[in-house]
Amino acid sequence: MKFKKAFTAFAGLAAAALVLTGCSSGDSSEPEVESDVSFEEGTTMAQLNADQSITIGVKFDQPLFGLQGPDGTPEGFDIEIGKIIAAKLGIPAENITWTETVSQNREPFIQQGQVDLVIATYTINDERKEVIDFAGPYYVAGQSFLVPEGNPLGIDGSDPESVGDATICTVTGSTSEDNIREYTDNVITVDKYSDCLEPIRTGEADALTTDNVILAGLVDQNEGEFEVTEGTFTEEPYGIGLEKGDQEFRDFINDTLEESYSDGAWEAAWTSTVGDILPTPEPPAVDRY
Ligand code: GLU
Repeated sequence: MKFKKAFTAFAGLAAAALVLTGCSSGDSSEPEVESDVSFEEGTTMAQLNADQSITIGVKFDQPLFGLQGPDGTPEGFDIEIGKIIAAKLGIPAENITWTETVSQNREPFIQQGQVDLVIATYTINDERKEVIDFAGPYYVAGQSFLVPEGNPLGIDGSDPESVGDATICTVTGSTSEDNIREYTDNVITVDKYSDCLEPIRTGEADALTTDNVILAGLVDQNEGEFEVTEGTFTEEPYGIGLEKGDQEFRDFINDTLEESYSDGAWEAAWTSTVGDILPTPEPPAVDRY
């Protein structure tokens, strides 16, 4: 296989750090907001705490990770991670402004200061690190395919050559697009993953390719219509995007993630969202590059 991204920083997963809390209530309980915080003057943390508000870019159309709920507020694992970070900044969940980001506008939104953070199934990679920084990873996904139920073309998630001359739908500006173009030119692109479902229903496309957990959410949302192919062909470490060069903020978020691994908050975030359909994984070691 010519394309397999090595992500060696995961050696030594923080398995021992995961405290099993035994509580797995279906509903998300809001993380406790720090009331007694003090941050060094001039830091982003001090500014956000003083403002008592934070703006976070998330997905609005991806069940399990970031999906706009009936009242307009998004729900999912990325949302819960955002609440954990805000709580450590002394900011309650109701003071978070959730801004929709799609794959291609995540870096520009950070660079232009339209959001303080992006938590949006956002793969850490070197190209993106040229213009923004990442805390994390806080989860590692892998790219696969969503196909009509029964997988009529026999596409294999661990072998992207198996797409043959099928038409593959994916999203502009995603690693999913870059990765699949290594194997085929027969690609159509849209702004959001949910926009690939109709082309598959009409036969305009044969499959959707992106991260397995995004696909699992879409399959779950559209019962009986689609399935996710077995296997994956990439590693997609999900990071939290922030302004390039803000080392103190990045360290703070990495510390917060590690704490959430050991105090049970990360696991509770998973259980109340993705945990409805997928078992709890080990949290990955953060990469303080
Ligand atoms: N994780 C991949 C990326 O960051 C695909 C998912 C997405 O587009 O959000 O590009």
